[in-house]
Amino acid sequence: MKTASFDFGPTLLPLLKRNLREQELEISFKGLQTTKHLIESMGVPHTEIGPLKANGKPIEMDYQVQNRDRIQVWPVEPISNGPIEPRFVLDGHLGRLASYLRMLGFDCLYRGLYEDEELAQVSVEEARILLTRDRMLLMRKVITQGYLLRSLSPEEQLKEIMQRYSLSSWVKPFKRCIRCNHALESVKKDLILKRLEPLTKKYFDEFSLCPGCDQIYWKGSHFDHMQKIIEELCRNKYVMESER
Ligand SMILES: [Zn+2]
Repeated sequence: MKTASFDFGPTLLPLLKRNLREQELEISFKGLQTTKHLIESMGVPHTEIGPLKANGKPIEMDYQVQNRDRIQVWPVEPISNGPIEPRFVLDGHLGRLASYLRMLGFDCLYRGLYEDEELAQVSVEEARILLTRDRMLLMRKVITQGYLLRSLSPEEQLKEIMQRYSLSSWVKPFKRCIRCNHALESVKKDLILKRLEPLTKKYFDEFSLCPGCDQIYWKGSHFDHMQKIIEELCRNKYVMESER
């Protein structure tokens, strides 16, 4: 039997299995084991593992842990603004988060009935970041882009995502259908006049149409509600850049 000690960064501690939540841990193991495997067996999916060191020297996740190694584990650093807009695929039960992300203009696939297999496949084939609260799902080998949501609250989850993927510069509010994820197109009022309620007809002039599901959008009460959420995020400095 070999042993190795693991020292996790404070933000990773809540992800460890309950009986392991100490700053420095000693783990016993047999045979050849990679750092990734041992860390995942303690509860932390590989998508959350950032820089690693063994005995003070940088190592990769596939490093084979030696007897008496001292491993330090840092969390993944927030991804700063890259050249490609992040796209997402969301696990079931994250419908509210999907709505919020679409409201801010992000391309995210969501439907309540995805199987784990399918989620993993979509994430890999379409290079979409997999958002889930299921750590076992993120431990699948094929997953390279994923994030384990910490909070149960959709608003807090949105803040987590904004921070982790530096989304502020990509925010384009009211450009995507909240129901079906299609990009919205502006539409002339007289083309949809027959479908409007009398008050909507009277007070609003700008409309968008979803080419996917035919839903009409205008800057009415729904808009005000969304605006409030966006302002709230701005106050928290998560979308400051889009306001400049
Ligand atoms: Zn739609």
